[in-house]
Amino acid sequence: MTADGHGRVELCVVIGSGCAGLTAAVYAARGRLQPLVIEGMEPGGQLSLTSVVENFPGFPDGVNGFDLIDNIKRQAERFGTRYRQSVVTRVDFSERPYVLHLQDEDEVIRTQSLIIAAGARARTLGLPGEKEMWGHGLSSCATCDGAFFRDQRVVVVGGGDSAMEDAIYLTKFASEVHVVHRRDTLRASKIMQERARSNPKITFHWNRVPVEILHQAGRVHGVRVKGTGGETGSEKISCDGVFYAIGHEPNTGMFGDALPKDAQGYLTAHGVVSNLPGVFIAGDVADHHYQQAITAAGTGCAAAMEAEDWLQAEGLLQA
Ligand code: NAP
Repeated sequence: MTADGHGRVELCVVIGSGCAGLTAAVYAARGRLQPLVIEGMEPGGQLSLTSVVENFPGFPDGVNGFDLIDNIKRQAERFGTRYRQSVVTRVDFSERPYVLHLQDEDEVIRTQSLIIAAGARARTLGLPGEKEMWGHGLSSCATCDGAFFRDQRVVVVGGGDSAMEDAIYLTKFASEVHVVHRRDTLRASKIMQERARSNPKITFHWNRVPVEILHQAGRVHGVRVKGTGGETGSEKISCDGVFYAIGHEPNTGMFGDALPKDAQGYLTAHGVVSNLPGVFIAGDVADHHYQQAITAAGTGCAAAMEAEDWLQAEGLLQA
């Protein structure tokens, strides 16, 4: 489709290629919606960056996150899903079919129905040293970057399941893992807490927040942390690498104010049905509570079924 308005109109476009988007694609493809998946900034989503997923039903011994995503992707492809490696920068909801603008491309895509499964991205802190060292000793992906820290000291920031999972994973490589958490109780599930607490390589620094990523000559050499109880001083934790595991922010910038959001910026919907005709919402972009692979998959499935019903009711889908 060119910007002047000629070309194909899609029946169903899925924004996002994580667990929600790909599951939506499986169902949409089997429903003969011929979905086009725009893969987005992080193809495969958060799950493809996860080491072992132990709680996805059907895998008693766990499954590698990347493999799980790759399997769903191939499953959707088998039924006719098409993929496009691009990023949606703006969606124009003022006319139907809706118009999607893509990064670095003159082309636009028009679609009758849209499944938004844009997911969420890792949160950062905006600390001094963060910009300079991002990707050079500072990361939000232990699975991607952990192996660079063999026999070195690393810091993990956060107290949730991701932080515990990252800390445990990093003990495979690092000599010491230091968890910095802003409270004295963990948010993580009991099983993850127990595993982390019983790991002799992991040390907890309670009631602390990082205030600066310390670096010299292109290398991280520590994190400056401060107490959360109003203490005036700060202390340095020496380390070679830092991993943020402090949650996520939903990817909603491309929608402007067209879709309602909750107080934390996540999209809101009635189940998976948005306030706009033919627009459905699935996965973490609308979920700050469960954020599980299986719930994302579930809403992806529901969104595709709703899209199929809607297209049928609009007379856009041949019986
Ligand atoms: P999360 O549960 O939201 O935890 C984020 C952690 O970062 C919290 O401990 C929070 O502290 C801390 N934090 C947030 N903002 C901070 C800031 N500005 N400064 C310092 N610390 C900050 O996020 P998550 O761990 O990524 O997990 C997200 C969801 O995925 C959860 O539902 C989780 O169960 C799920 N998950 C599951 C698994 C698994 O089952 N194996 C693995 C990974 C994720 P507070 O605790 O003080 O708020």
